[in-house]
Amino acid sequence: MRAAVLHAAHDVRFEERPEPKIVHPTDAIIRISATCVCGSDLWPYRGVQPVTEPSPMGHEYCGVVEEVGREVKSIKPGQFVIGSFFASDNTCPICRSGYQSSCQHAEFVGGAQAPMLRVPLADGTLVATHGVPSAEMVPSLLATSDVLGTGWFAADAANVKPGKTVAVVGDGAVGLLGVLAAKQMGAERIIAVSRHEARQKLARRFGASDVVTERGDEGIARIKDMTGGLGADCVLECVGTQESMKQAIGSARKGGYVSYVGVPHGVQLDGQSLFFAHVHLHGGPAPVRRFLPKLIELVLNGKIDPGRVFDLTLPLAQVAEGYRAMDERRAIKTLLQP
Ligand SMILES: [Zn+2]
Repeated sequence: MRAAVLHAAHDVRFEERPEPKIVHPTDAIIRISATCVCGSDLWPYRGVQPVTEPSPMGHEYCGVVEEVGREVKSIKPGQFVIGSFFASDNTCPICRSGYQSSCQHAEFVGGAQAPMLRVPLADGTLVATHGVPSAEMVPSLLATSDVLGTGWFAADAANVKPGKTVAVVGDGAVGLLGVLAAKQMGAERIIAVSRHEARQKLARRFGASDVVTERGDEGIARIKDMTGGLGADCVLECVGTQESMKQAIGSARKGGYVSYVGVPHGVQLDGQSLFFAHVHLHGGPAPVRRFLPKLIELVLNGKIDPGRVFDLTLPLAQVAEGYRAMDERRAIKTLLQP
């Protein structure tokens, strides 16, 4: 098969790779219906995270089960399934408490920008739909696999509830879907931080009531102005840089909640400032599996349309252009069709 492999910064190739096979009896092999490029794929693509060897790329996926190992019980060939970027058994104490991305047997699922994918711990990791969904549903179902699941966790971890004032730092696909999640959870006011016109528009469509274009201390001051000098009840940090984390913590009211779901690069917190910020902090790799059944149901019932974040669709063979478009911020998120 041919699949995406990152060789060095800005060098992603569509090249021959061995087809995945069942390795453990708990594995499944799926034929990918659609996959995509993640904001976190841009860290190694930009060379911020060093590339030491050719790396098969992609960790967002949905598709049809081709084959299962002999110990797989609930997942069957022919089912349409969605899974998360961490395989999880969904039975250990950590999974049962809702933190499947830190499962005691967690295994990263990589190499999804390909026609075929091996998914470990298939019974715990994959969620099957009733029947094979129509082609129009596929982008929104694909979104549940990571980008929506992560935005949803950001809102959940920031304690978003009916009537709350929410600020979302970051206008990438995760931030935009954090807005959608906050709206679904009943937030009264949702402030999106974005300077980019197309992204502001999508944020408003997903439920943002206000847009702030300022960053850093000016951004904090602006959000304080808008909230009677207090700051937002809930702040979602969806980038992972020092600046965005600082802005997120500074934008929260005393006693407020800050979630962080962007993979941190160079983020350092000062103990004194953290102490006096007086906020709840919660984040990490999103336990998408916790939310998958509910998110899939919301999509299939037509209640949400997270697939709108895909503003570029390409054949998998053009994966290099998919990365370039996101790197240059010409595209919010690229969907790839094998
Ligand atoms: Zn587990």
